[in-house]
Amino acid sequence: MKPRKIDLHVHTTASDGSLSPAECVREALARDVTLLGISDHDTLEGIPAAQDAARELGLVLVPGVELSVGSGEHEIHVLGYFVDVGDAALGDVLATLRGARDRRNEGILLRLSQLGAPVDPARLQQIAGTGSVGRPHIAKALLEAGHVSSEGEAFGRYLARGKPGYVGRERLSPSEAAQAIRKAGGIPVLAHPAKIGSRQTIEGIVDQGMGGLEVFHSDHKERDVALLMDIAQGRDLLVTGGTDSHGPHSDRPISIGSLDIPPWVGEQVLARAPGWWTEQR
Ligand SMILES: [Zn+2]
Ligand SMILES: [Zn+2]
Repeated sequence: MKPRKIDLHVHTTASDGSLSPAECVREALARDVTLLGISDHDTLEGIPAAQDAARELGLVLVPGVELSVGSGEHEIHVLGYFVDVGDAALGDVLATLRGARDRRNEGILLRLSQLGAPVDPARLQQIAGTGSVGRPHIAKALLEAGHVSSEGEAFGRYLARGKPGYVGRERLSPSEAAQAIRKAGGIPVLAHPAKIGSRQTIEGIVDQGMGGLEVFHSDHKERDVALLMDIAQGRDLLVTGGTDSHGPHSDRPISIGSLDIPPWVGEQVLARAPGWWTEQR
């Protein structure tokens, strides 16, 4: 039998990934992944197509989403697994988050043109493809327009927090995000927590309503995994893991299924799946 691999954190063209939802499912199967979670930024639009492909090809698909959330100065990400794709309240929250991003982008472009580094919005959308425009795309556009000599310089001169082209955006709090996910039948999971900082900071956010912790992630080192496992066990949190793959033509070309995640993680995720989801399958 082929080894059972899992990958619960994958982006599609519905947000900033380079593979369509169906392509992600095919790619996952080609790499022996049998449990796949799609978790696009602030949208569930890719789920139905992924679900269809998964049913057809015999792979178990966990519907998910990755919400952008503010915590103090920082942006953190909260994954919502097993959310009901048709939930109207969650749909409203996602629309608001996407709207906030658009307003922020407009603000950044205005600043940039005032600073003498204008970027063509139409070209920017071309760079982003079908996905939503974010600062990395703006950095590319600045480079292309010759305003900077690298994407790093684009952030260092204009786009990073505290620089003249930086514009913040209105955000949900971690507890608001967790509530919205729970109301839609899902489990809120704190994404790639090692990026956030100290144990104390991570625990502070977890205690604002998280039901799980993304212990396994492409950016996590062994000691991160050990620390996060300890936090998860102490609080009986769901343990999840994924590559955060954005497809082969992205800034982070990490293949789906390329992270070693122990099989018990998948078993435990399925064991905690809500009843309505298990029945639907
Ligand atoms: Zn993330
Ligand atoms: Zn992600």
